[in-house]
This record gives sequence, C-alpha cells and structure tokens, in this order.
Amino acid sequence: MAEVQNWQLGRKMQYPYEEARPERQFAAVFNLNRCIGCQTCTMACKSTWTWGPGQEYMWWNNVETKPYGGYPQNWDVKLLSMLGPQEWQGGVYAGKTIFEAADPAKQTTSGFLALGYLPADEEWRYPNIHEDTAQGHSPHGARLPEHESWFFYLPRICNHCTYPACLAACPRKAIYKRQEDGIVLIDQSRCRGYRKCMEACPYKKPMYRGTTATTEKCVGCYPRIEQGQVTRCIATCIGKIRLFGWVNEESSPVHYLVHKAKVALPLYPQFGTEPNVYYIPPRWVPRDYLRQMFGPGVDAAIEAYAKPSPELLAVLQLFGATDRIIARYRLEGEAIVGFDDRGAEVVRVPIDEKVQVRPADRMNIT
Ligand code: SF4
Ligand code: SF4
Repeated sequence: MAEVQNWQLGRKMQYPYEEARPERQFAAVFNLNRCIGCQTCTMACKSTWTWGPGQEYMWWNNVETKPYGGYPQNWDVKLLSMLGPQEWQGGVYAGKTIFEAADPAKQTTSGFLALGYLPADEEWRYPNIHEDTAQGHSPHGARLPEHESWFFYLPRICNHCTYPACLAACPRKAIYKRQEDGIVLIDQSRCRGYRKCMEACPYKKPMYRGTTATTEKCVGCYPRIEQGQVTRCIATCIGKIRLFGWVNEESSPVHYLVHKAKVALPLYPQFGTEPNVYYIPPRWVPRDYLRQMFGPGVDAAIEAYAKPSPELLAVLQLFGATDRIIARYRLEGEAIVGFDDRGAEVVRVPIDEKVQVRPADRMNIT
C-alpha cells in the first residue's frame, strides 16, 4: 500500500498504487440549484453509448431524486452504513476511506478489494425510482435557508477519480487512467467480467453487460474531448447546469470554482477516491444532509453562491454557453470571454442578462 495525498480529505491516505496524477484532469461542475430533472443528459448519453443489446439497463449518466432515489437503488445509503463514523475535524477527514476500511483478509495478490458490495440485478432495474418524492411536510410554505419539505435532482456520471477504486480492484489490470486527460477506461480486450470494479466503485458506475460478459462504464466522451469538445451530457444539458474543465489547471473556470471560489464540492469525498465531478450544493436542502454528501465546505459554498463575487457571477454565465472546452477565460468590460487551448475565442457572454420589457400592447402574446 502506498501513502498518497488526497486534497479533498486534507490528509494522506492508503491506496494500492503510488500517486500518479495525470497531466490534465477531466472534471466538471454541476450546479444542483439549476437541474430540472429533464433527463436530456441521460438520453443523450444513452443514444450515444449504450443503445446496443445487453445495455438495456445501463445508464452511464443518470439523474436521481434525493433523498430517496438512487441508481442502483440505495447505493449511497448502503455504503455509508457500511463505512461507519465519518467525522471531519476542521477540513481534515478523521474517519476511514473505503480503502482503509477494507477487510485485509479479502485482499488478493492481483486485486485490491475496497469496502463495497455488488448490487443485485433488481437494484439496477428502476433508474428513476422515487422521482420527485419529497422528504418532510411543510405547513408554512417554503423559506430559506432550509425548506421543511424538500428534494433535489442529483445528476451522476463516472467521476474519473484520481484514485479510482474500480482500477484498484481489477485483478486483470484492465482498467487504466489516461495520462493526457485523467479519463478512466476499461480495456474491453482484457476484461473478463469478474465485476470486482462494480463491487469496489463507491459510486457504482461500472456496469455489467451480459451479452459480452464484460463490464463497461462512462468513457468521458473521450473522442469528443480529444477534439476540444465537451461531453454529450454537458453539451445537451437543458438547464445549463454543467461546465467542463481541467481542474488542475489554474486558468480553467472549473479550477476557479473548485479551488478559488470553493463553491463546487466533491460527492462523498469521505469515500477517498478523489472524485472529479464537483457540485454546487442546492441552497434549500437541510445542511446536515448536504454536509454528509459534500463534506465540510457546504456552508461556505452556499454562502459564496448566494452572494457571488463579480468574478463568480461572471464564471457562472459560462455554464452551457458553448460545446467547446474552455481552457481559460477573461473578464472584458461587461462580458466574460472563454478561450480554447490555442487561445482562440470560443464564447462571449454578457455578465448581466439584459431585461426585456414587453410593450403593453403585446403583453399577452406568448
Ligand atoms: S466513479 Fe467509480 S468507475 Fe468512475 S473512476 Fe471512480 S471508482 Fe472508477
Ligand atoms: S439535462 Fe441538465 S437540467 Fe436536465 S436532468 Fe440533465 S443535468 Fe439536469
């Protein structure tokens, strides 16, 4: 076991392989305050990647309704219960990660089993179970900071983790993380369908395909990324809640949101895989629930989002504004401008959306 630095935990942790960060790390920010649960992202992914025989129950992108929904069903509640106490002391995680909590008796010489479980077929069958089911009842209507009756949509893809549990667990060494962009892929020619990755991935994002007897997972739309285009789920998002970027490059808007403005947080950082999809938490949801899901940065993130600085307000306008990858951005007067890797302008968005007032004689025309 190696000791590796996990910045999301604020400490070092145990991982089977040495730290080997890619040159660039695939990352995205999803703004949960804006997701409308339309599932356009889900269908864009399905029609691109998982429309073949044996992939019927395979949804690389899914959008579940929290707190009750989950694909596979109850994936997070199950693992959180297995993991035990998950205390944070300041910004440092004091509990165990899935790697540290794994049963040493189950380790093999060829694969490292993280704490996990293999979902039954039944649990994959209803990807949108409990859609729009709220928790609690409010006789008072809705008020901030926390609604008494609440739910929210949680869109999920593979997190292309810095320390992937799927990769650690594979006895065939069929899973690899690309040096050029941090995308985690399964080599189909090496996979024998042992499903150790499914058992180990805390987010349950590798999925079994019966017709080929192999496991498949989100490929990060790598052919598009190689051409400077964002993924299909990001490009098609109706709510404009998604932004792609390189989280380890200071010029990227995603780096700004995660590391400088600190409004975007990892999903269940306590699992220890250092996931690279980051979420702006929903403002109306009880804070205890959010702190368990996104860690101790929740309160500061919501505060920053509710009263955005001029730069944050500007960067938020870049969500869904282009299907090109924005490598760097600049504020120019009343606009924010995004540039690609070669320095070419790919998008220009006004920071303040102008209000259009209809003349009185056209009020009722829709
Ligand atoms: S989310 Fe799961 S499948 Fe994706 S890289 Fe992380 S551990 Fe692997
Ligand atoms: S397309 Fe966007 S708004 Fe619609 S469900 Fe997906 S993430 Fe949410």
